Amino acid sequence: MICDNVSIVLGKIRQACQNSGRDPEAVTLVCVAKNRSLEEINTAIGCGITDIAENKVQEAKSKYKSLELMKWHMIGHLQTNKTRDAVKIFDLIHSLDSIRLAKELDKEAIKLNKVQEVLIEVNTSGEEAKFGVAPDGLMDLVKDTVNLKNIRLAGLMTVAPIVDDKENVRPYFKALRLLQSEVNNFLLTIDHRPLTIISMGMSQDYEVAVEEGATMVRIGTAIFEGQKL
Ligand SMILES: *Cc1c(COP(=O)(O)O)cnc(C)c1O
Repeated sequence: MICDNVSIVLGKIRQACQNSGRDPEAVTLVCVAKNRSLEEINTAIGCGITDIAENKVQEAKSKYKSLELMKWHMIGHLQTNKTRDAVKIFDLIHSLDSIRLAKELDKEAIKLNKVQEVLIEVNTSGEEAKFGVAPDGLMDLVKDTVNLKNIRLAGLMTVAPIVDDKENVRPYFKALRLLQSEVNNFLLTIDHRPLTIISMGMSQDYEVAVEEGATMVRIGTAIFEGQKL
């Protein structure tokens, strides 16, 4: 059943790419494994999943050892006291939202002799309950982050609001892509490589996210429980 779900999701990603003239190869399906057992995760891996995401360091810690060959993503809010484990475990951290956190990650990355790849999470909807830097604070955080030697800023991430009609999330995805080009215009002026990753889209809205330029979609429910649309 999980393999059927993965094929359905991949098919919809392909369709969304076709609708928008994009290359399906440019979109990575990240499987969100929070609250799923190792057995479920292993089944998903058997269906071709290569990228696994957790929203809590503690949960990833107990799982990643037996699945070290996978690419691990941190998609939840990261506390500064969890940065040591986070740098050990994750290939990509999607949820950088403050310079304080960036500096802590840099410090731990230096200790492990690792360059930690990160995305900045942007609160495109402005909802109070959401994490992420406000759009008008993004450029300052970019400027500070690119100065850190062991942090590699690779892109942006957003979580769209829950809506009834998935068309209503489109403006937030468009906004993230626009912010990405603004950041890239700046990075050009300092000879920094451009951001290439746009992490947006979950089970309820990934097709719209792909049409709007997502290069990573983060999907849990549609893989483990099927599409509830
Ligand atoms: C849980 C979660 C997802 C996946 O949500 P689904 O609706 O299960 O696909 C994606 N991104 C973040 C940040 C999450 O916390």
